[in-house]
Amino acid sequence: MKANTKRQTRQLQVIWEAIKDEKSHPSADQVYEKVRRVMPSVSLGTVYRNLQKLVADEKLQVVTVGRTQRFDPTVEKHEHFICEACGRVYDFFVDSKRKIFSSSLPSEAFTVTSHQLALYGKCKSCQG
Ligand SMILES: [Zn+2]
Ligand SMILES: [Zn+2]
Repeated sequence: MKANTKRQTRQLQVIWEAIKDEKSHPSADQVYEKVRRVMPSVSLGTVYRNLQKLVADEKLQVVTVGRTQRFDPTVEKHEHFICEACGRVYDFFVDSKRKIFSSSLPSEAFTVTSHQLALYGKCKSCQG
């Protein structure tokens, strides 16, 4: 039991190491590929479970791109530009004082708790 807990802690550490400085918003598969180089015995399920744990601990945030979850170690509020050609996800920051108004929602009946804005297009390296 104790050895098992130790192994789980080590797995979580390796997975965190693999993603903490990532700017590319990797999917669980991409994190798995990276972790496997360090820890060949790891399974995709383990990687996935640990990523969800890091999300629950607010160390990672999830960015949904199409139908794939991508993981982002930058947890401060920011927005994403998603390249439709290469699938790369870029961060950008919006001034928090700038409010987004929606004229189609009656303001008295809806409470906005957060928002996620994603811009889609072609990135610099796909231009051209
Ligand atoms: Zn691109
Ligand atoms: Zn991001």
